[in-house]
Amino acid sequence: MRTLITGGAGFIGSHLAASLLDAGHDVFVLDNLSTGSIDNIEPLKPHARFDYAIDTITNEPVLAEHVDRCDVVFHLAAAVGVQLIVEAPVHTIETNVTGTEVVLKHAAKKRKLVVVASTSEVYGKSTALPFHEDADLMLGSTHQHRWAYACSKAIDEFLALAYWKERKLPVIVLRLFNTVGPRQTGRYGMVVPNFVRQALAGDAITVFGTGTQSRSFGYVGDVVRGMMALVAEPRAIGEVFNLGNNHEITIRGLAELVKTMTASNSEIVTVPYEEAYESGFEDMPRRVPDLTKAQKLVGYEPRVQLPETLAMIIDHHRALGKQDA
Ligand code: UDP
Repeated sequence: MRTLITGGAGFIGSHLAASLLDAGHDVFVLDNLSTGSIDNIEPLKPHARFDYAIDTITNEPVLAEHVDRCDVVFHLAAAVGVQLIVEAPVHTIETNVTGTEVVLKHAAKKRKLVVVASTSEVYGKSTALPFHEDADLMLGSTHQHRWAYACSKAIDEFLALAYWKERKLPVIVLRLFNTVGPRQTGRYGMVVPNFVRQALAGDAITVFGTGTQSRSFGYVGDVVRGMMALVAEPRAIGEVFNLGNNHEITIRGLAELVKTMTASNSEIVTVPYEEAYESGFEDMPRRVPDLTKAQKLVGYEPRVQLPETLAMIIDHHRALGKQDA
């Protein structure tokens, strides 16, 4: 396959690029480096089947040219990270909605398969656990900027499924659940790289809220394997899939695990949500994927559990020398 990865210099995109190259595919990365980093694709540059351009997906002539040249588009370019979303809601909404609109429009001209990366955030405050793809979504007030992210991604999903229904554009929507692994940066607020950096630096480990809220962290390698399996399965077209790991851990539990695994002397402190984000901030108490759909269709099973993933992340941060990842 000739593949185009929008957002391919990001954390997940760069892992996907490496795996696609390993599997013998051609990879072209289009990334504006807004949250991605050239360092992520540096090791891929010498590869004969790899190429990239630093540009935005809303540069339509450039995007159109690269869509024409590929067989499959992995559309990962998006505004990510709760911190970034709360701080820059206009940017989030515009990037996520306009970007996906443009990608789908150009892919539709030549009927190129588009994989749209969505997020578990779309389930919002739902308490119908584990989250199944057909379940109702439950978002909060439009005054709370966090929900703009879920809403913008839900619009991306609607749009992708509408292109499939109305224009027969083959699409696959993937809801990724808290993907983690080496190279993820804590700069946009993601909890795992933040805790690892804090623990290694001996700084306080900052648990937001009570720490009783839970998440299920998926290893990036498992998620990428799931993406590649679904792309190769014609029955995945026009469908939505959860991808991640269904093992749940509280954020306090995560802080303790990171502290133990790094043998850190850091203190674990709690920070109220309104201090960490904004006043009235709403978190989701639990988030667990139902993975049955991907499991039944392509045999998707997460293979790497959180302690093993954390060990890789800790090694990665140590190898950076300075903990500024
Ligand atoms: N969190 C935390 N400390 C941090 C960063 C995040 O306690 O330094 C919490 C955050 O409030 C949420 C969970 O960790 O309850 C996961 O946050 P993240 O931003 O990684 O992903 P989310 O699941 O919120 O999209």
